[in-house]
Amino acid sequence: MGSKGINHYIEAAQRSAIWHKDYLKEMKKCRFDTIAVHGIYSMQEALDFNQGSIIEPVYMATSQSYRDSDEMEAALSYQIPTWCYSRIANPTIYYLEGVLAMLESYGSDVDASCIATSSGMAAIQTAVDQFLLPDHENPSKPVNFVASTQVYGGTFQQFAVRKHQERGIEWRKVINSDDLKEWESLIDDNTRFLYGEMPSNPGQAFFDLKKVIELGHKHGIPVIVDSTVATPALMRPLCLGADIVVQSVTKTLATSGFGIVGAVIARKNIVSKVGSPEMKADFCMYAKTLPNRDNGPNLSPMNAIMAINDIRTLRSRVDMQSRSTMTIAKYLSSHKHIEQVDYLGLESHPLHQLASEYLWLADSEHDEQYGKKVNRYGHLMSFHVKGGAQAARDVFDGLQRIWRATDLGRIKSVATIPSISTHSQQGEEGRKLAGIPANLIRLCVGAEHPDDIIADLEQALSVLDGKTIKSSAPEYSAGGASSATLRR
Ligand SMILES: *Cc1c(COP(=O)(O)O)cnc(C)c1O
Repeated sequence: MGSKGINHYIEAAQRSAIWHKDYLKEMKKCRFDTIAVHGIYSMQEALDFNQGSIIEPVYMATSQSYRDSDEMEAALSYQIPTWCYSRIANPTIYYLEGVLAMLESYGSDVDASCIATSSGMAAIQTAVDQFLLPDHENPSKPVNFVASTQVYGGTFQQFAVRKHQERGIEWRKVINSDDLKEWESLIDDNTRFLYGEMPSNPGQAFFDLKKVIELGHKHGIPVIVDSTVATPALMRPLCLGADIVVQSVTKTLATSGFGIVGAVIARKNIVSKVGSPEMKADFCMYAKTLPNRDNGPNLSPMNAIMAINDIRTLRSRVDMQSRSTMTIAKYLSSHKHIEQVDYLGLESHPLHQLASEYLWLADSEHDEQYGKKVNRYGHLMSFHVKGGAQAARDVFDGLQRIWRATDLGRIKSVATIPSISTHSQQGEEGRKLAGIPANLIRLCVGAEHPDDIIADLEQALSVLDGKTIKSSAPEYSAGGASSATLRR
């Protein structure tokens, strides 16, 4: 058998690229829910490549085999579509990346791409590190970035310790992220990007994203947004002009809670003063084929399929959970043991007006139930218990339906005390910057009926009236396991 030549494969890839482009164009005409359900996995893909499987198959394999040396050469020089080795790419992960890129650009003509990572933290590292390289012509020139302090605890550590302390890259901290002047005053010639999280976890900080984007672009630098709490069902920063979005897919997107997943989604042709033309042209493709290939923070295909599966129902879940959260926030607002409730959906929240300009339920205007654009504010809220840190702990310890865990986005309601968990690492002063007092309980409302969540909160809060909560424990589980006490 003679060699077919490398062009044989490259030409086939070019024909395929046209087919895929047309398919995506058709898919892009669909509504949010349709895209969330189908993503980029087509019937053609199922029938021709996946034995007709209606669900995206999981490729639990390290690597791809090639027909001959020509195909291998074309693949490894990235001239044909290939996944080659699962540290670099994998078909199941590709389906996840495809659906996220489509959802984050939904309703706009933004051309986006995505790279999935092993965690939200790896996504943040992937998104920011490409901009923090030293200036080779001027290696002693300092490098800085401007980012709000009201960020996830892990992000705070990555910025404060891994970048600032360990690598000498200055984190210029924006304390009041809704003050545009503060952002602007921190930018200089050595600023590589602007970064913000909105709404922030747990403080629900919010800023005028469109103005921050304008500001970044005026200075020729990219704007990176952690949009984990909003999800594309409520807000799509790329459509507002942001360059890069990071998602802890672990949270609301992959609500079932089977594993940790992250993603970076970027528009094509980002704004940046540093980086190669290839990096700016397609940031995610660049990160996938070069730095992340070499650093290796890739996702497992098993975690990818679990995320894909949960994303299908994103919009209706976020709608329902947002409505329940509003009901619960209103209940807590008038409770005698509660000092303050922080929920962007409450009119009393100082950032309610601003948040209402940004947080819209996707496609509500096409929903027969609503028929117009409606605001939804997500399922993250927090409340301050009267009586200080100990009172908050007593209430927290009394919860019986709401799980005590450092988690959010789950289909089950979960609560945490950030000052002793997610935000313990950053110390008293760091918590002050992020606005996290010791009597704050963060509640992320699940898909249970809100009446049952309210009943649980009611009985837990009753400990502050001096009521004791009685608890008993069975010695056998319903499934037949015996407890340690019985065996003793
Ligand atoms: C959890 C979280 C992260 C980190 O994501 P992991 O998947 O846990 O690594 C980043 N940002 C926000 C807003 C988060 O809530």
